[in-house]
Amino acid sequence: MSSEWCQNKKCPEKKNQNQIRGSKGAKYYQSNKANTYIGYWCSNGCRDSWWNQNKDTCIQAVGFIDKQVLKLDDAWYVEYRYDYRENEQNRYHLRNILKGVDQPITREQAQSPEDIANGHNWNVIGQAEARELAIQLSLAS
Ligand SMILES: [Zn+2]
Repeated sequence: MSSEWCQNKKCPEKKNQNQIRGSKGAKYYQSNKANTYIGYWCSNGCRDSWWNQNKDTCIQAVGFIDKQVLKLDDAWYVEYRYDYRENEQNRYHLRNILKGVDQPITREQAQSPEDIANGHNWNVIGQAEARELAIQLSLAS
């Protein structure tokens, strides 16, 4: 789904020079085109304005979500710590703060083969894979 025009009804009220159309005596301001990067709006300001006008409708459409929890056994993650004083060995850590675990791991354990091949040092595996790794390393069951 997409729209050609900024979805903020008040977009023309910005009165920017680039929004002027029409001939002398019949000039008007029009909405900007939606910015493909932001999605449905021309700018973050228009998105914020739209959100303030429509947040109640959005929440009702989605439905209220109750309190969510992330349990101890699902709280694993891999962290990349860049520190120029540290050598390559100590950059990646398998962590579960709820369990008090902060285990140094290798780059091969911390990253996908694609990330290693692409040289994206800071990318790390996701939460589910981090849990699998914790099980492999006998830190979890
Ligand atoms: Zn706009």
